[in-house]
Amino acid sequence: MGENSRKYHELNSSHTDPARLKREREKARELRKTRWWLDQVNRGTCHYCQKKFSAAQLTMDHLIPLARGGTSAKGNIVCACKDCNRDKKLDTPVDSLFEQLERERRKRGSSEGEGHV
Ligand SMILES: [Zn+2]
Repeated sequence: MGENSRKYHELNSSHTDPARLKREREKARELRKTRWWLDQVNRGTCHYCQKKFSAAQLTMDHLIPLARGGTSAKGNIVCACKDCNRDKKLDTPVDSLFEQLERERRKRGSSEGEGHV
């Protein structure tokens, strides 16, 4: 008794917990409005290729992806040009994959009710 729910809890407390990801994404969005971020962008250097870019060409990037346990703290957030950011995203599709799974699970859940399989 209770074995299944314990397993579910362990999964939930892992790095890919959707609630945690959502919280960290919101934090990142807030950071984007700060003076600190403006300073980063105005410096205009991509963290990865070290080339110069205009502010509009730079995007916010997490050094350690959120889905791998990274947080939206200043030490984990850097400026990346679109090319570098895109390269890295290919390596970490975890975020979008997880969101997709979550969406499908919710869809299934509502059509089948909460009985056992
Ligand atoms: Zn770059």
